[in-house]
Amino acid sequence: MPGSSYSVFIPGRIIPNLNDTREAPVRSACSPLLRVARTLFVAIFCLLSPVAALAQGASAQAAAFDPRVTFAPLTLPGPVNDYRSANGAPGPSYWQNETGYELRASLDPVAKQLRATEVITYTNNSPDVLPSIWLRLEQNIYRKDSRGYAIMGALLRRRRAAAQAASEEMSTEGFVFDSVEVESGQQIVKADYLVNDTRMQIRLPEPLPGHGGRLKIHIRYHYQIPGVWGGRTSWGMSEKGEIYDMAQWYPRVAVYDDLRGWDTLPYIGAEFYLEYGNFDYYLTVPSNMIVAGSGELMNPQDVLTKTEIDRLARARNSDKTVYIRTPAEASDPASRPNHGGTLTWHFHMDHTRDVSWSASAVFVWDAARINLPGGKTALAMSVYPPESVGPDAWDNSTQYVKDTVERFSKHWYPYPWPAAINVAGFSTGMEYPGIVFDGIQDKGKMLFWITAHEIGHSWFPMIVGSNERRNAFMDEGFNTFIDIEESADYAGGKFGPKRDSEYSDGGEPADTILKVLDNPEAPTLMIRADAYPWQLGHPVSYFKGAYGMVLLREQILGPERFDWAFRKYIRDWAYKHPSPSDFFREMESEGGEDLSWFWRGWYLNNWKYDVAVEKIDGSSVTLSNLGQLVLPTPVEVTFKDGTKTRITLPVETWLTKGTYVWTLEHKSPIALVLVDPDHMLPDDNRGNNEVKADQ
Ligand SMILES: [Zn+2]
Repeated sequence: MPGSSYSVFIPGRIIPNLNDTREAPVRSACSPLLRVARTLFVAIFCLLSPVAALAQGASAQAAAFDPRVTFAPLTLPGPVNDYRSANGAPGPSYWQNETGYELRASLDPVAKQLRATEVITYTNNSPDVLPSIWLRLEQNIYRKDSRGYAIMGALLRRRRAAAQAASEEMSTEGFVFDSVEVESGQQIVKADYLVNDTRMQIRLPEPLPGHGGRLKIHIRYHYQIPGVWGGRTSWGMSEKGEIYDMAQWYPRVAVYDDLRGWDTLPYIGAEFYLEYGNFDYYLTVPSNMIVAGSGELMNPQDVLTKTEIDRLARARNSDKTVYIRTPAEASDPASRPNHGGTLTWHFHMDHTRDVSWSASAVFVWDAARINLPGGKTALAMSVYPPESVGPDAWDNSTQYVKDTVERFSKHWYPYPWPAAINVAGFSTGMEYPGIVFDGIQDKGKMLFWITAHEIGHSWFPMIVGSNERRNAFMDEGFNTFIDIEESADYAGGKFGPKRDSEYSDGGEPADTILKVLDNPEAPTLMIRADAYPWQLGHPVSYFKGAYGMVLLREQILGPERFDWAFRKYIRDWAYKHPSPSDFFREMESEGGEDLSWFWRGWYLNNWKYDVAVEKIDGSSVTLSNLGQLVLPTPVEVTFKDGTKTRITLPVETWLTKGTYVWTLEHKSPIALVLVDPDHMLPDDNRGNNEVKADQ
């Protein structure tokens, strides 16, 4: 998801805000209980925390820092066992279940319906016998009786008024099941199932054994496609024709893992947690439509013209963007192989947790080669309606996609899929494996930022399959962190540095983060994604999450150690399900540093950092640590003869006490001492960072 300032939340997603105004903080409305809980937590925390016992005067404040709290042994929330190792990697007995999907869907643009059959092949690699299978039914969020609708219903109505949307019914019946069957062995039997909100439980005729037990589930279903109000998935009317952004379009198996068994958090707005497997899917649409789908198009000969097939072949060998279907052709029937009736597009994608697609008769389509490590290649592509064409707009999209995929592949982990597609439509600012949805009107640096961000999600959480619904910082935070580099480096820094509502809007991160740390309502990074109040979701999970990674890389471990460890984390957990504790352990073990003080201060708490210069006494300096958070602290000393020296005080400076007297050996007395001279640390009070010696 993006944090672009022109976007607002609606159930499950963000849509462009036509008036460029921020919506009221709707998400807080969902959680009055949480607010109470948080207030209580803050109150208890304040009672317990020595930091809160603020006294007057620097020395009294210095006494408020308690090293016994900062450096206490830390028990991470997740366990170490045979499944998850102490070094943060998957353990020797790590297991993960597997879901393969075969889907055949047809789009009815008149009725605005999708009808489909689904065959799920589910493999239970766990050691447990499963008496039932839980599935996720995200379309059910649009039902009037859903939890999400109860929470977001009022917002939906307001959004409609604001966006002057058509007076359509802003709800659906969700998934309607025509049949649900279980196949195990030679038998196919009608399934015994219940639907609860956005979940379905299939109670199996016979329990599914562990260690590789396999069964198939056959489902026939249909659903009403939501309008633009659908958020993450929708149909909408562009200037020349409809665009369908199809996501969460099939029932999928929930994750059964070693952390909590079935993970059945309902879909009330926060994103997803899905198993990996191979997908084969067939989409039957009116013949005048172009379909962009996750993975590889398997039958171009059936659905494209000879010209388009030739151009695709050319794009595979071109670093420059090549039109597959030009803006002029987007309204030309000759650009389609058939006229009237339908065509079936067949796509295939391996090792993925999801697939999504978009369809429209008015798509312009272009592509270019992505150059991957080891001489491999993939295709960067964009599809967009004619009004998105423009030299400052979607003409550049494919180059943004290409550059982002190439950079992240080189720096972090090779992009594994055959194509990366950017779609301009109405479900803007949303990511899926191999395909992302952005805005028809996006242009300039906003189009660059949102494209880099959504494509960046290919790594987190599409390759590294963390639980977005519980651990947003491992999704939005990690992704925003890698996006900073893309913004800094693309076309010589044309769009850098990244300063948008995702990251340090309105100033330098060391300053802008203070607003977040000072906010007593701010949740920690460990809270589940739906529990972020709307106005704090981006500042905490995106910005604080990403800035934590910047501090870890630039200030704590240094790029050499950080990159090595983070790459190992990505490799170890590619196509797997890491928990926050796995990440913490991997960065400590492979980064070579006990970081318990950082996890506790930055992730488990919103502690503040403040190092002060107390006094200069000839050749010695007294410094004090006033905040409960510690960080390696660069200090610059200027001597009266004009020379300078710098050291970085390690966090161990504060292991036993909050004050430190540093004596320097130099022929000239000290003239000035400055803490954090490069302005890189989130120092809560810069007023005490600099002291001049008495003349
Ligand atoms: Zn995002």
